Amino acid sequence: MMNCLLCNDNKITRIGEKNSYELIVCESCDLKFTGRMPTAHELETYYSDYFVEKNIKNAEKKKKRLKRLIRLISFWSKGKTFLDVGCSTGFAVGAAKELGYESMGIDLSDKAIQAAKALFPTCKFRCQKTFDLVKEDQKFDFLMCREVIEHTTDPLAFAQSLSSLVTPGGILYLTTPDAGHWRVPNDFVSWKEVVPPEHLFFFNAKNLRKLLEAVGFELIYKQPKFKPSLRVLARRL
Ligand SMILES: [Zn+2]
Repeated sequence: MMNCLLCNDNKITRIGEKNSYELIVCESCDLKFTGRMPTAHELETYYSDYFVEKNIKNAEKKKKRLKRLIRLISFWSKGKTFLDVGCSTGFAVGAAKELGYESMGIDLSDKAIQAAKALFPTCKFRCQKTFDLVKEDQKFDFLMCREVIEHTTDPLAFAQSLSSLVTPGGILYLTTPDAGHWRVPNDFVSWKEVVPPEHLFFFNAKNLRKLLEAVGFELIYKQPKFKPSLRVLARRL
């Protein structure tokens, strides 16, 4: 069996199975993940037309909510460049643009990117991975990454790419389901967020912090939630 991706410990225990994926937990840091990862090809096929219809619903309401959130987070942000990683149909990118940001979004779903371009023609959108932007040496003052990291096959490498995309002193707002929340069922695999191959990694507040610190961020704020969702704001050192 593999070692823990986060702490490299080999005390790994099986906790169950779902959708033909074994679920395992690291006894040291409590990171939960699937015992195997889907191939790049499987993921590309899976995400090429991901979620679009559902995301366009309640467009105005969604943009309004995101605008409120971005305005609030702006208090911690000095610069004026914004990137939404996993932007889907682009509501956050559109909202940031309206707040005066030079605004861009990337997503793996070509369908979502096409929809985003049509909805927000003055913003930049690309069907691209973070790793490609890193190669271009692009940097942003304010990065958003909502409900994405649990989908990645290597969250450490992914978080490293996020870190490379943020200017020193810049901020990252990241959300992911909270596997350590009191509302998560004792029978972990029955939790609705456990949906491999869509979700592959399940963090709690402690190991998410460890991950972000490992790639050069310091946590500045963790939003308490009644729902099992982690919402953190971090600054790039
Ligand atoms: Zn671990």
